[in-house]
Amino acid sequence: MTDQTQQALPQGVSAQQFEAALAKLRGLLGADRVLTSDEQLAPYCKVMMSAPDEEHRPGAAILATTVEEVQGVLKICNEFKTPVWPISTGRNFGYGSAAPGTRGQIVLDLKHMNKIIEVDPVLCTALVEPGVTYQQLWNYLKENDIPLWLSCPAPSAIAGPVGNTVDRGVGYTPYGEHFMMQCGMEVVLATGEVLRTGMGGVEKSNTWQVFKWGYGPYLDGIFTQSNYGVVTKMGLWLMPAPPAYKPFSIRYESTDDIELIVETLRPLRIAGIIPNAFVIANVMWEAAAIIPRSKYYDGDGVTPPSVLAEIQKKEGVGAWNVYAALYGTPEQIEVNWNIIKSAVEKSGKGRFITEEEAGNTEPFKYRAQLMRGDMTLQEFGLYRWRGGGGSMWFAPVSQAKGSETKAQMELAESILNEYGLDYVGEFIVGMRDMHHVVDVLFDRSNPEETKKAHECFGKLLAEFGKRGYAVYRVNTGFMEEAANLYGPVKREVDRKLKRALDPNGILAPGKSGIFI
Ligand SMILES: Cc1cc2nc3c(=O)[nH]c(=O)nc-3n(C[C@H](O)[C@H](O)[C@H](O)COP(=O)(O)OP(=O)(O)OC[C@H]3O[C@@H](n4cnc5c(N)ncnc54)[C@H](O)[C@@H]3O)c2cc1C
Repeated sequence: MTDQTQQALPQGVSAQQFEAALAKLRGLLGADRVLTSDEQLAPYCKVMMSAPDEEHRPGAAILATTVEEVQGVLKICNEFKTPVWPISTGRNFGYGSAAPGTRGQIVLDLKHMNKIIEVDPVLCTALVEPGVTYQQLWNYLKENDIPLWLSCPAPSAIAGPVGNTVDRGVGYTPYGEHFMMQCGMEVVLATGEVLRTGMGGVEKSNTWQVFKWGYGPYLDGIFTQSNYGVVTKMGLWLMPAPPAYKPFSIRYESTDDIELIVETLRPLRIAGIIPNAFVIANVMWEAAAIIPRSKYYDGDGVTPPSVLAEIQKKEGVGAWNVYAALYGTPEQIEVNWNIIKSAVEKSGKGRFITEEEAGNTEPFKYRAQLMRGDMTLQEFGLYRWRGGGGSMWFAPVSQAKGSETKAQMELAESILNEYGLDYVGEFIVGMRDMHHVVDVLFDRSNPEETKKAHECFGKLLAEFGKRGYAVYRVNTGFMEEAANLYGPVKREVDRKLKRALDPNGILAPGKSGIFI
């Protein structure tokens, strides 16, 4: 039996109804895969957001291992109108972790559904289940001597391709826009039907993982950042290991250099001279990944510029730090390297650092690992910067134009500073856009600071929104505000799709602001 004193119930669901659903779920999955005690639910309750834990406390968590079990779970949830929040590896740190979007939802944890179904070394594709981690896939490639590279987000090892891709996450190799490199999905719809997207519905087809579009409306997109189905298989493209790899950094000394950096490097990215999703990280991001703030400053509020100048000097990091890489034959790399060098030299600023010069030092080392899809957890150092475990990613999209990046940087910094928080920011450069990613770090054990962080995040969304800037992804505490930035028509279409595909609204209500 569930401990009723601790039970978090979903809105509109009675304790009796919820218990009846759990009893049926135990019948389907076995009692040991229906988790309800405080101890069992602890991993699903930890959030890093400014919202109180209680708002995101799940009613239960369940572990499914097969497509049939997922179908059975959804049938029961429809019968008892109990909402269910699917997660794959559940490492959505800074965006809501493994906790549901609203209180009381049952977390459907797919981490034990973790088969690597196929890796095709010739076509460089993989088909995986949701629980597969990047580490698991990486080990598989090594153990089987398959010369393919992954593209992973910074928490690499412990996260996984399905969860990251369906939340439209990014990595740092030429395959860094993960949804672009996804090909074919299997989705269990709320009604229990199993849909295979793209070529997957064609009997005997062997092109499911090689041709994205299939025929008719392209559907994969509607199963990302949504609550229209549970993804139970996903295809992805892997990058052939290049014969040579040259990671490098370019260091800039002044915050104002951001405009020049973008204007110098954008043409090289669009032309494919720089092939990867390179980053431009500010001094605090660089420092936070390697040292706690207290090494240089233990005062409250914003880190003073004089301290940042000292960190720049003593830790050998720039005000802005570009990390990019070249891939291919040594000859190809040589040609592109010379083009990049001459463009940067012509711009009059920027100091190159190569792998040979950086040696084994951080943060160069972990950036070089990420740009070849290797496993590293170095970036978790960000949480030591202020301490206290509070983190929310503020991630507005920017044009890849210097004037735009400068405007966004200044706006973000001024709002954060108003609330006594630091601007810990980087730009991840897409083909023509930038993911401007700011880690809103705060001490979550300090109620005052947590309140300020909450207000600050709201203001960031609102002020950016007024200027036409919207986030590409947001933590589960601010989904409504983010969805509003995209306008009423988009919201109504999202809702119509929801009603059509999930008439009882049992799948992850509230995800991306979508309810029935
Ligand atoms: C220090 C640090 C650095 C980070 N750097 C990056 C980065 O470089 N790039 C990046 O993208 N992120 C980054 N993150 C954020 C996050 O940790 C990663 O995106 C991570 O990959 C997400 O967790 P996951 O892969 O376990 O996905 P999950 O937590 O399993 O899934 C994420 C969400 O997708 C939905 N979902 C998951 N599985 C399914 C399914 N099967 N069916 C339907 N819906 C589903 C759910 O809404 C779920 O909450 C970083 C976090 C930290 C702490």
